[in-house]
Amino acid sequence: KEEVNIISGALDLRKKTVKDVMTKLKDCFMLPINSILDFETMTEIVKSGYSRIPVYEGQRGNIVTVLFIKDLAFVDPDDNTPLRTLCQYYQNPCNFVFEDVTLDVMLKQFKEGHKGHMAFVQRIEEGDGDPVYETVGLLTLEDVIEEMIQAE
Ligand code: ATP
Ligand code: ATP
Repeated sequence: KEEVNIISGALDLRKKTVKDVMTKLKDCFMLPINSILDFETMTEIVKSGYSRIPVYEGQRGNIVTVLFIKDLAFVDPDDNTPLRTLCQYYQNPCNFVFEDVTLDVMLKQFKEGHKGHMAFVQRIEEGDGDPVYETVGLLTLEDVIEEMIQAE
């Protein structure tokens, strides 16, 4: 019976899109790149409980890199290291997807693994001029798996 649910959940992935299951930008725990990695900020990061933290420059939609919790391993809070310095050292790339991509495609991409297990979700605003990309949220492998196993 369990197996049947997972299979039907897996089939349903084709009917759902990234925007149905993503974490909305306003709910994302992120850091501005001009943060200082002092005791207060590092405590906040650890308390958030997330292992990947999007880093933005200027406004929240402008995500420039990702901080992995493990990148903090050699950071001493007493040094007041600028987050920018750490980001320039690791240069972790970001993976972007469009909001209307279906979850079976995302599962495949996450399984292939070479782009990591997090993606930033983008919407295209069609205007008169050039299309504008807007970042609307983030998606992880966990979000896809959750959708797959809770489907009835
Ligand atoms: P891990 O389990 O690898 O330690 P994690 O707990 O940080 O990672 P996931 O398990 O991948 O994160 O995702 C759990 C949920 O949290 C998902 O719904 C995902 O969209 C969301 N999520 C992941 N990172 C963040 C973040 N920085 N801010 C807000 N939500 C996040
Ligand atoms: P999980 O929570 O599933 O264990 P993880 O901790 O393995 O995830 P991932 O997001 O899957 O974290 O990233 C794994 C590794 O892949 C990271 O160490 C990172 O350096 C690298 N990586 C992340 N994103 C990308 C990317 N877009 N392109 C290339 N490499 C990436």
